Amino acid sequence: MANALDRLGLAAGDRVATLAWNGYRHFELYFGVTGSGRVVHTINPRLAPDQVAWIANDAEDQVLCFDMTFLPIVKAVWSKCSTVKHWVALCDADKLPADTGIPGLVSYEAWIGREPVGYAWPQLDERCAAALCYTSGTTGNPKGALYSHRSTLLHTFAVSMPDALSLSASDTILPVVPMFHVNAWGLPYAAAMTGAKLVFPGGALDGKSVYELIEGENVTMAAGVPTVWLGLLNHMAEVGGKFASMRRTVIGGSACPPAMIRTFKEKYDVTVLHAWGMTEMSPVGTVGTLKLQQSRLPLDDRLAIMGKQGRAVYGVDMKIVDGEGRELPWDGKSAGDLLVKGPWIISQYFKAAGGDPLVDGWFPTGDVATIDADGFMQITDRSKDVIKSGGEWISSIDVENIAMAHPGVAMAACIGITHPKWDERPVLVVVRRAGTNVTAAELRAFYEGKIAKWQVPDDVVFVDAIPLGATGKMQKVKLREQFKGYVLPGA
Ligand code: ADP
Repeated sequence: MANALDRLGLAAGDRVATLAWNGYRHFELYFGVTGSGRVVHTINPRLAPDQVAWIANDAEDQVLCFDMTFLPIVKAVWSKCSTVKHWVALCDADKLPADTGIPGLVSYEAWIGREPVGYAWPQLDERCAAALCYTSGTTGNPKGALYSHRSTLLHTFAVSMPDALSLSASDTILPVVPMFHVNAWGLPYAAAMTGAKLVFPGGALDGKSVYELIEGENVTMAAGVPTVWLGLLNHMAEVGGKFASMRRTVIGGSACPPAMIRTFKEKYDVTVLHAWGMTEMSPVGTVGTLKLQQSRLPLDDRLAIMGKQGRAVYGVDMKIVDGEGRELPWDGKSAGDLLVKGPWIISQYFKAAGGDPLVDGWFPTGDVATIDADGFMQITDRSKDVIKSGGEWISSIDVENIAMAHPGVAMAACIGITHPKWDERPVLVVVRRAGTNVTAAELRAFYEGKIAKWQVPDDVVFVDAIPLGATGKMQKVKLREQFKGYVLPGA
């Protein structure tokens, strides 16, 4: 494939885009594109076609490789992608449909099939660019995070270490987390570095398919966002399944409900590694592995610690600050804006979009967090999701986590609704678990003794579905729009 890129006359640093599931051809692109000195630009196919085109143009992609599933997106955008000269369908030659209308479309296998198997890999400057990924852009246009060979290699070392994801050649890793967003948390690189076996799910991300893949391939470690594991756990409960080989799973991207960590441990003997990071951080920043004295605590105490987002992996520095930028103590109580720095954290966005993002050399994450004396960071909220009630803050994540422990709740989102007296009050939006009929009053009563009275949601609203974003996170911006003008009881 690197030979094929040379034949196209691609220069060093040129962007080769992908719109693809987790699969072996995507994996080949990860290494062939970067190893030959070009930049692999993963595009999230769950974005709207116009956003895909906007991102491809901003990145000035030269080649775009896509899975056949995403042919409809490519058909919708090819004429708008002004820099893309070559379109490659990630399929066998005989699977290429005849009349797609996409100019010069070739199949991946025909494209690389005529090339020699050997390639003289160049010696690259370790600081040159290797991969590009855009943030999901919940506000404004998406911005690109550009990773270098050096930052990726250092990140790979760090995430593979025992106190991070503890990867080795005896592991079989299933990244359910997509390779089209932040390099599947670096797992394709880490598996290659450690020699672990990799298993790719393609587009089959439902509970049944993921379960059968885990069992069929003897997966020892899997990674994904909480919504994916919800589907898996629901399926396991339905069929009474057990895991033969899976012993740990990395959950991050949004807060993992403590009830999920407990279910994995108590019912399936699987240890959840709760991790936190961002596109701008390559992405891993913290992982919730226990320290020696903590690993000897009773299960309930251990689970409480594992519910936090974890300790900084080696290389990442963290601090929390108040509204005036004063550093706050690591006491597990003081909550403030979380800032980070380290060798795989961006210092600016691609093409310097948005200007200088750093504050005194630190990257502001937009998350609000506490850090305890053991160095365990806990996200209380994204700064824009925090609910401000009567001058106090309510953590929407705390409110959601409690709801998720109720057997009648499949999914819950807490948002702030404008209130004439309190500024904002929390409302809980709930998707009921199939076959249950939990009421608003029951759910409100469920909060008793679990959080302060004034933090209990003023109302509970039941919906059929909560909008999920392109990376499987609940879209609170959309929810807030949906509930605009909603009048609280008694307001
Ligand atoms: P975006 O979705 O905005 O592009 P990323 O995909 O980079 O951003 O996600 C980064 C954000 O996701 C973090 O700043 C944080 O708010 C949230 N996040 C990631 N992991 C966790 C976690 N384990 N717990 C809570 N929030 C998390």
